[in-house]
Amino acid sequence: ENNQSELISKIKWDDAGLVPAVVQDVQSKEVLMMAYMNRESLQLSVETGVTWYWSRSRNELWNKGATSGHTQRIVSMAYDCDGDTLVVKVEQKGPACHTGRYSCFFNPIELSSNAAAETTQTTADRFATLGQLESVIAERYAERPDGSYTTYLFEKGVDKILKKVGEEASEVIIAAKNKDNDELRSEVSDLIFHLMVLLRERGLPLDDVIREINGRHGKPTTNKMR
Ligand code: AMP
Ligand code: ZN
Ligand code: ZN
Ligand code: ZN
Repeated sequence: ENNQSELISKIKWDDAGLVPAVVQDVQSKEVLMMAYMNRESLQLSVETGVTWYWSRSRNELWNKGATSGHTQRIVSMAYDCDGDTLVVKVEQKGPACHTGRYSCFFNPIELSSNAAAETTQTTADRFATLGQLESVIAERYAERPDGSYTTYLFEKGVDKILKKVGEEASEVIIAAKNKDNDELRSEVSDLIFHLMVLLRERGLPLDDVIREINGRHGKPTTNKMR
């Protein structure tokens, strides 16, 4: 109770008694949506571990997903430097946007200053590709678009995904044994894709894998790893 009122006093509520909350997918790190909280919805969010907002259009407390089923389990919350914005990291069930889109922010704004920037990837962000792939897969997971192979995998379920991981791993081995690097490139790509689908299905962030790899980097190899 005391903690709660202390938290409430740390937030810089606007004139309407609201504070904006930025909602982030804990796994892909994509920004999913923005909504307002009042004191009561912040308290409810903290207490229940699912998101509660204040709907300005409907003028009522809003338990995200109550009608759509697209609920948000809160993993962590924070307020910013000056207490005027919240960030909520969630496990999002289904799409976050009421339009059925994974994220509310699906309207890109073209930068005239930046026309050709996207095509030139520097060495530093070469591996950003995997992060982008994680986001695309998260979008497919939420939206389940027709005709998407990724949708098909999620609909079939984890056993199908595991079967594909096994198959693609075998194909990697065959390609390597054949000393065919065109085949190897293709099969490694298949394997990485299916591993990424598996991470989404299991809710494991790619970040955690990268952290694991970084933690090992430069360390002497133990027998356990061989
Ligand atoms: P839900 O909370 O998902 O059951 O949706 C209930 C209603 O809340 C929807 O019909 C929308 O009016 C609104 N809503 C849901 N998600 C969003 C969102 N991401 N941004 C704005 N409004 C939303
Ligand atoms: Zn601020
Ligand atoms: Zn939206
Ligand atoms: Zn393959």
